[in-house]
Amino acid sequence: MSKEFYVLTSNDYHEGLKNNKLLGLRCKNCGQITCPPLPTCQWCGSTDLEKTELSGKGEILTFARVYVPPESFEPDYIVCLVRLDEGPTIMGRLDYDKDKASLKNGNASQDIIGMRVRLDHLVIPGDKFSAGERVMPLFKPI
Ligand SMILES: [Zn+2]
Repeated sequence: MSKEFYVLTSNDYHEGLKNNKLLGLRCKNCGQITCPPLPTCQWCGSTDLEKTELSGKGEILTFARVYVPPESFEPDYIVCLVRLDEGPTIMGRLDYDKDKASLKNGNASQDIIGMRVRLDHLVIPGDKFSAGERVMPLFKPI
């Protein structure tokens, strides 16, 4: 494996998330952004990449409200796909509390598609299915 595969490791990416920094890769061949990190540009396949910090802002493309969660997760949360301002699409949780009506209209209807969001993060404790604590993008409405 050549050196360019280590421009941005998964560990670097997750450490960035813990500090609310969204790290991606800028392709020196086509100029597009890849996020989360991959060994090659997700748009053209080039390995000529450099690490870059993204704005963490974007809009919700789609979402799913999870009423029946996997073991060790609390029910009723929202997983969303966010198209980042820089181009790539990433998955994360949406900051949503049905009891606090944290969304603009108070519930998770189709109205939230297109809603502007910004990056935060969520730390999930380890369980029997994982190797330990995990961190994932958490998106908050702007
Ligand atoms: Zn490219």
